[in-house]
Amino acid sequence: MSPSRFDFEAQRDRMVRDQIAARGITNPRLLEAMRHVPRHLFVTPDLYTLAYEDHPLPIQENQTISQPYMVAYMLQLLALDGHEIVLEIGTGSGYQTALLCALCARVLSIERFPSLAREADLRLHHLGIQNYEILVGDGSSGLPDRAPFDAIIVSAAAPKLPQSLCDQLSEGGKMTIPLAGGWRHAYQQLVLVERRDGGFKVHHCGAVMFVPLVGEEGYKSE
Ligand code: SAM
Repeated sequence: MSPSRFDFEAQRDRMVRDQIAARGITNPRLLEAMRHVPRHLFVTPDLYTLAYEDHPLPIQENQTISQPYMVAYMLQLLALDGHEIVLEIGTGSGYQTALLCALCARVLSIERFPSLAREADLRLHHLGIQNYEILVGDGSSGLPDRAPFDAIIVSAAAPKLPQSLCDQLSEGGKMTIPLAGGWRHAYQQLVLVERRDGGFKVHHCGAVMFVPLVGEEGYKSE
């Protein structure tokens, strides 16, 4: 028997309660968006029943849709109030893009794989979401022609902080990005960069694991 729509709603409620709110995510708009966005539609049908579990899942092109809590954690760090223009790097399945669209005014999202960008665009369109653009290409240097951005969210790990992304933040803007650390990039940590008072403040937000950011200001290959 295939799980009913009701089952998915119940699973979303449980995911938000047990994985997201229980770990300290308190932003009410974010919790509501996560209760609303049908995460199972962002994975292949064989993975529908795993879509609300507490871990990342594979998507096409050997990439991943991040663990729900990790998406929530990064989004909460950005503290969006609904008026922002946000640059997202690494569209992947489009799940995080859908959440961003509920939390800010407009999302520009860049994905390096045309097939992922196309699928994500179809999903968002099918859900009636309109306040986004998906672009295909290397997002590691951002989108200088469209800058500045109130927030930037990078969903793939960079070898070091890309200066061009920092420069594309507006005054008061925030960026979350996973960065490699340690000898031979043995681990990754999430950082929050804030552009304030003419400078950049970098906060360390814990250990994470992401696929590599591949491009000009990222790794040269996977
Ligand atoms: N947040 C996404 C979701 O909800 O499905 C998951 C993103 S996945 C962890 C990281 C994505 O970053 C992959 O789809 C990968 O192809 C993409 N990526 C890696 N390097 C990139 C680059 N330089 N520019 C754009 N996208 C990139």
